[in-house]
Amino acid sequence: MTLSLDLSTHAARAALRPDAAADKTSLIGLSRAELAEALVGAGIVPEKQARMRASQLWHWLYVRGVSDFAHMFNISKELRADLDRHFSIARPEIVEEQISTDGTRKWLFRFPPRGAGRPVEIETVYIPEEGRGTLCISSQVGCTLTCSFCHTGTQKLVRNLTAEEILAQLLTARDKLGDFPDRDTPAGAIVPAEGRKVSNIVMMGMGEPLYNFEAVKKALLIASDGDGLALSKRRITLSTSGVVPEIYRTGEELGVMLAISLHATNDDLRDLLVPINKKFPLDQLIEACRAYPGLSNARRITFEYVMLKDVNDSLDDARALVKLLKGIPAKINLIPFNPWPGTNYQCSDWETIEKFADFINNAGYASPIRTPRGRDILAACGQLKSESERMRKVDRLALEAMMIAGHGEA
Ligand code: SF4
Repeated sequence: MTLSLDLSTHAARAALRPDAAADKTSLIGLSRAELAEALVGAGIVPEKQARMRASQLWHWLYVRGVSDFAHMFNISKELRADLDRHFSIARPEIVEEQISTDGTRKWLFRFPPRGAGRPVEIETVYIPEEGRGTLCISSQVGCTLTCSFCHTGTQKLVRNLTAEEILAQLLTARDKLGDFPDRDTPAGAIVPAEGRKVSNIVMMGMGEPLYNFEAVKKALLIASDGDGLALSKRRITLSTSGVVPEIYRTGEELGVMLAISLHATNDDLRDLLVPINKKFPLDQLIEACRAYPGLSNARRITFEYVMLKDVNDSLDDARALVKLLKGIPAKINLIPFNPWPGTNYQCSDWETIEKFADFINNAGYASPIRTPRGRDILAACGQLKSESERMRKVDRLALEAMMIAGHGEA
């Protein structure tokens, strides 16, 4: 008798290896079609049932938020066992959870090496506010760009996160906050009084999301899927330093809200602050913003502007900013700079920031001054715990709230 096995799928190959238990394919982050394909490929679901089973799993994974096949009660015991033998839906390891006195939470997650040679750690930050809870998600470990005011930019890129790892940050945060049906919110947790605990997500953590476009796109399409996590695209913001071609793709293929790390109104200065500007100068960036689909006063682009003393904070700069953004439905986030060890920049005086904000406001733009959150747990800082632990308290304070750029802040 001969036995033939279909080894064309990763799942089927993985199941044959002795370390299969430790190396199961994760179902998190697969599209519906990929999910169905994986089930058929593993030989545990007949092709004609695949779509139905994929929808069933989708509901358990993204509506009910289960992380153990054993809890999928409307699936037979046999199939649950098969699923468990071939696949994983486990959450990542939480190395640490820190909770600020203002309710901000920061998690340090550890993911497997995946070609990076060692496990990687990234941070995700939850910021509760009146009426909303925002999760700041990382897209890369480190960053290839070297924005001169950003501390994360001093960490070399280790690797891109996968769609699974991007989604895992959202799923695990919702676990921890009791944000799935039939789950309890931890006693004393500061969360919005009504509705979802995680109502908004921002791709503003470590890394440049548009340099990891495919994985970010896949994860955000799953996060906004109406039959699953169902986050409205108006509640998802992607922040970029200005990767122009992918801004067009973001508009066409994703349609989420856009934020731009702007920080300067002329190319000479922006070349220094945000070096990717040398590749995609301001005129190209602004053109891509103007062309972003669906812009209106209710759907504005957010421009992040870090306030650097005597660098970009004069009223002439404010005037130039208003001129540059003319005609674009925009909101301008002013970010007081918090110096970190080794930086040459200083934060603008408070009075200067207020005058700057007033000028922009009078020109018709919302211009909130962003206040640092989670100062006591370094939640605004892009440093991994391993590094932050080595810092003396005085350095930590200097590093706090480095909410620079709209990324590098997780
Ligand atoms: S601001 Fe963003 S793109 Fe620039 S170095 Fe920091 S993390 Fe990278």
